[in-house]
Amino acid sequence: MIAKNEKDSADKVLVWFRKDLRLRDNPTLEHALASSKQIVPVFIWDEEEGGKWSPGAASRWWLHQSLKSLAASIEKLGGRLLFEKGKPADVLPLLAKENGADDVFYSRVYDPGGMAAQEAVEEALETAGIRTESFNASLLNEPWEVKNSLGKPFQVFTPFWRNCRNAIYKKPADYPIRNLQFAKQPAPRSSLDDLGLLPGHPWHEKLFTHWDVSEVAGQAQTVHAAREIVPTYAHRRNSPGTEGTSRLSPYLAWGLISPRQVCHSVLQNDAGGSSRGENKFLTEIGWREFSYHLLYHFPHIPNRPLRPKYASFPWLSDSKSLRKWQLGQTGYPMVDAGMRQLYETGWMHNRVRMVVASFLVKHLLISWEEGARWFWDTLVDADLASNTQGWQWAAGCGADAAPYFRIFNPIIQGEKFDSKGKYALRWIPELKEVPPKLIFRPWESPNGSSESGFGTYPAPCVDHASARARALGALASLKSS
Ligand SMILES: Cc1cc2nc3c(=O)[nH]c(=O)nc-3n(C[C@H](O)[C@H](O)[C@H](O)COP(=O)(O)OP(=O)(O)OC[C@H]3O[C@@H](n4cnc5c(N)ncnc54)[C@H](O)[C@@H]3O)c2cc1C
Repeated sequence: MIAKNEKDSADKVLVWFRKDLRLRDNPTLEHALASSKQIVPVFIWDEEEGGKWSPGAASRWWLHQSLKSLAASIEKLGGRLLFEKGKPADVLPLLAKENGADDVFYSRVYDPGGMAAQEAVEEALETAGIRTESFNASLLNEPWEVKNSLGKPFQVFTPFWRNCRNAIYKKPADYPIRNLQFAKQPAPRSSLDDLGLLPGHPWHEKLFTHWDVSEVAGQAQTVHAAREIVPTYAHRRNSPGTEGTSRLSPYLAWGLISPRQVCHSVLQNDAGGSSRGENKFLTEIGWREFSYHLLYHFPHIPNRPLRPKYASFPWLSDSKSLRKWQLGQTGYPMVDAGMRQLYETGWMHNRVRMVVASFLVKHLLISWEEGARWFWDTLVDADLASNTQGWQWAAGCGADAAPYFRIFNPIIQGEKFDSKGKYALRWIPELKEVPPKLIFRPWESPNGSSESGFGTYPAPCVDHASARARALGALASLKSS
């Protein structure tokens, strides 16, 4: 005869949620389902796990809302999501014991802090005699699976993606979520609010007007993107004034949707998978994969350039200009519109991310690390792999990066990609009296000047031509050193 606690322990599995905050297409849950065990789901908040790169304010807001929604979905299925604080390696063995579970399943993360936490967990659980299994819930390919012909990691995107793009055809797991068996739980020790994720200041409240944070909303956005955005993506993705991109990034960042679901949805909407727009879109999912590939193989890159010679780049320490950039007060409308969109909505269009990043590192000669940090705090889609890759790309110091000497002209970028000024005016209403053809150079309009700007809108904080020359000079000094 099996003693009661032995039977219980054989019946339960602890599922440790990481960046896989969803019920559908979650290989960890799929595995728990296949094991026929009752699931005890837990999320553990360890503020120290990411070190310098612990989630920023916007990301924590997103995380809080995602957990709230996940907890409600689990409750509908008869379970209860447990919330714990502390080191997972301390918490999980105790929790497994308390709940009589002798297995812990989780979805892997790939950032250095998260990977160190996973290693510690594996060790602690092994010592406690508890089995662990981990799964890939957030990437199409494991970063270590993709290698060049020399068995080395790729550092250039095109051959990387050529090598592994067939993974877009991987199908999402197909199980009815109502079959997930969650264990009945007594009232938990701590609540979501006890994790203290929400920032102390009310800045985050306005984010509610821009985002619906739930797995269901992420799925709806995926379907919408596949049907309405992807078909015209190739020619609209660079126009920030239109709804030309999917806005799926924050849902992907915390795993409310999976890249497999996104690819599958896109391919289903175009059976051949061959339209130009679609390929371009799926290539962007490829850039996300590439970013993870780089972060996994070069874990130092959030803090140091991938190309070592850029470590001695003569950056300026200029807190005044940095602040103007952060607040969207540089006097260059394309830059300021982007920075204001970011501060208001927690998100910025990709074309504009490239323009504002280039402006910070080249026009202001302020280090990409300052920019990455501000993005980290204000983006709802903040993702260590993509953010690092995006910033090092802009600064010319990363893999497959834009050469440093290619300096975006913020005026021309505006005129080219927001020709009617729709995007700029949405975020900078002070410019509504500027003649349309001068929106991106308001100082040239009849009531403007390069000393005082236009009305309350500031004058350019640096002159484009001299800033360009200064940036090239800095690059030359690096080359000759
Ligand atoms: C300086 C800089 C910083 C960035 N920081 C982040 C970040 O912290 N988090 C983040 O998710 N993306 C980041 N990006 C990449 C990109 O800007 C966003 O992924 C994109 O704007 C998100 O909008 P979307 O979902 O509408 O993208 P879409 O154009 O619809 O693309 C679909 C998906 O592909 C992925 N993707 C698209 N472009 C890129 C790219 N260049 N690199 C990696 N993945 C990409 C995203 O997951 C995105 O959701 C950064 C780019 C730059 C230039």
